[in-house]
Amino acid sequence: MLKAMATLEVWFGPAIAAALAATSASSQSREGASAAPTEAAAPDSEANPEDHAPGEVFRAPSFDDVADDLIVGPPEPIEACEQRLEDAGVTFASSRIPVHENKSGITCGAPQAVRYVSGPGKIRWSGKPKVACPVAMALSRFEVVVQEEAERHLGRAVKKIRHMGTYNCREMAAYPGWVSEHSYANAIDIRSFTLAGGKEIPVLGNYGEPGAPKTRAERFLQAVARRTVDEDVFSVVLTPAFDRLHRNHFHLDMARYRVDGTVPD
Ligand SMILES: [Zn+2]
Repeated sequence: MLKAMATLEVWFGPAIAAALAATSASSQSREGASAAPTEAAAPDSEANPEDHAPGEVFRAPSFDDVADDLIVGPPEPIEACEQRLEDAGVTFASSRIPVHENKSGITCGAPQAVRYVSGPGKIRWSGKPKVACPVAMALSRFEVVVQEEAERHLGRAVKKIRHMGTYNCREMAAYPGWVSEHSYANAIDIRSFTLAGGKEIPVLGNYGEPGAPKTRAERFLQAVARRTVDEDVFSVVLTPAFDRLHRNHFHLDMARYRVDGTVPD
């Protein structure tokens, strides 16, 4: 474990390594326990068990139920992904980012990709993000969180979100040698929120001190980030509180591991 931890620190830095070690430890500690059935039997036993239940929420893995948190690679295909997006009220176009190896030997691409246009929050996205299906599912939930917190803290709706990119075949900027979830289009960097009426709230300069927001914009941004972690909307949420690389955007991704970057690294 210690050796693994040291290796993780080389890859990720102390905070992310600790998060990975914690999830790994908790998944190991549960191995001896007998698995109790947690789901009620489907009313129709003829139903294909692979079918998703209508209205079922697509969640990032919980902090304590990640068994494969050391696997880094393209996301698993999601059964009936495009049907689920339609059910979630997402407007999108089918797209392709074939899984391939680049010149440096990094695997990139996603087995299922879409152009996300809009979701249940009726938010306009800059440059229609091209993302892996898990991110599109997550963005539809993110829109709802954003609108609820905008109403609560700012008294108006968000009409537009500017992002800084999704797919990018590369290693992590902060952790060379480790492949970024951007390589799988499994991540998005969010720069700002524009309210109805035109006021823009950039992440830069509006996050405030973690846990002690002072302005309405700070309360809004911190509430959005907090709920995005707590409600398993995305599995990795990095904010200006995390490190200087993220001072001007929220990095959100659907990695198999979890990182709460609403607090300092
Ligand atoms: Zn990013």
